[in-house]
Amino acid sequence: MSAELEEIHEECGIFGVWGDPDASRLTYFGLHALQHRGQEGAGIVSNDHGHLISHRGLGLLTQVFHDESQIERLKGEAAIGHVRYATAGSSSFDNIQPFTFRFHDGDMSLCHNGNLTNCPSLRRKLENEGAIFRSNSDTEVLMHLIRRSPRSTLLDRLCDALNTVHGGFAYLLLTEHEMIGALDPNGFRPLTLGRMKNGAYVLSSETCALDVVGAERVRDIQPGEIVVVDNDGYRIVQYAPHTQLSICSMEFIYFARPDSDIYGVNVHSARKRMGSRLALESAVEADMVIGVPNSSLSAAAGYAEISGLPNEMGLVKNQYVARTFIQPTQELREQGVRMKLSAVRSVVSGKRVVVIDDSIVRGTTSRHIVQLLKEAGAAEVHMRISSPPLKYPCFYGIDISTTKELIAAKKSVEEIREFIGADSLAFLSLDGLVESIGLQGDAPYGGLCVAYFNGDYPTALDDYEADFLASLPSEDCERLAHFAECNSEYVGNEFHSSIVSHHARRALRVDS
Ligand code: AMP
Repeated sequence: MSAELEEIHEECGIFGVWGDPDASRLTYFGLHALQHRGQEGAGIVSNDHGHLISHRGLGLLTQVFHDESQIERLKGEAAIGHVRYATAGSSSFDNIQPFTFRFHDGDMSLCHNGNLTNCPSLRRKLENEGAIFRSNSDTEVLMHLIRRSPRSTLLDRLCDALNTVHGGFAYLLLTEHEMIGALDPNGFRPLTLGRMKNGAYVLSSETCALDVVGAERVRDIQPGEIVVVDNDGYRIVQYAPHTQLSICSMEFIYFARPDSDIYGVNVHSARKRMGSRLALESAVEADMVIGVPNSSLSAAAGYAEISGLPNEMGLVKNQYVARTFIQPTQELREQGVRMKLSAVRSVVSGKRVVVIDDSIVRGTTSRHIVQLLKEAGAAEVHMRISSPPLKYPCFYGIDISTTKELIAAKKSVEEIREFIGADSLAFLSLDGLVESIGLQGDAPYGGLCVAYFNGDYPTALDDYEADFLASLPSEDCERLAHFAECNSEYVGNEFHSSIVSHHARRALRVDS
């Protein structure tokens, strides 16, 4: 994969307020509740009667806003904010959002959660036409497209721009007169509208941040919708001709906070059901269940309930270590895992333990956990993973970028078991995952994106497609082509036709 394609993965949190004199402070509180979605940088922009004031920086929210005066300066009754999580390669101040743009007809500020699949080619085209970019983030592309649209109102221009970008995105936009939220036609990332008692509106990546500022959920923003909030209230505009919900299943598995609800499904309860289902699918003789803190504690509770085994605290997490996943080298990643988790010797010594984790990406964490528990005297360690094996990259904004990093793309379950040193290993089935999350709706997989598990991408992959198809082993290509022929359920999915024709070309090459 080229460096250009490799650099733009962003999983972030966005939060905005319209109509409260303390808008920037409330935005700070909202972002604080969304800190798990991004720890690399943060920023808030407020709207002081049309003058947009910004404060941004690298690091955690409390590092960026370490002094009361920094919030005090962000005056006005509206604000939007962002916490950023990106791959190590692009950790520069220039990429910290929200971005603010000064135009002759008014300031605008913009932030974004997700990843655009056609960003590199759009950017190249825009640069060739004279556009100047100051970051390597996807977000600026949208603003260039808005400004280039020939239509007269901001809303029409935004609709044009949103119909030009592809992939996973939730945007927040702030101007003097309104705060706007927009979601991609598949709703890959969550976005919710809430209302405070004083009538102020908030938009947030997750509902957990609504609770923190005392807002009631009004509605989840649906695929292909724009929500415009101004002094008259809010209105919804449908900008996309075709929509189909395929929300990222990793939001439920790992990314979102357990107290959040996504499309009416509570994340903790979904994880607990995944754990229960895992216990039914892969029972094992053991003395106790241990959840890997924090993201797997809900699944461990479900596993324990069904298996009848005690749910013990056999692993403790140091809560002050940021996520290990973003460390740039394997050595640092391993050091990060060592700093993060410790085994409780007196609990596990001499015991047969079932360890529940939410996912295996590279295998670093599971391998370390097995070693820790064995060193602490565990008699047997059985790993149970509350999601299916991650085999395919994500192009919509979760940092699982290349197949070569994914251990399950190269190794069988037995080979992974051997690599991590566990006595047994099992993953949740795909059906088990979909049924446990239990979204209501008739979209494929109940409205979830499960492409990391089975390669069934709900959209065209655009700039990523050629590299992705070239990286597919023949058997995979054959399987996906068959799959695409039998299950072309996704509305207007060009990826399915690409994979079928790619397979046909490959087969011809092989035959000739
Ligand atoms: P690894 O050690 O590379 O196998 O990563 C697995 C661990 O990373 C699991 O314990 C997960 O909780 C966590 N994880 C899974 N997906 C992600 C992600 N997209 N970003 C950060 N951490 C993740």
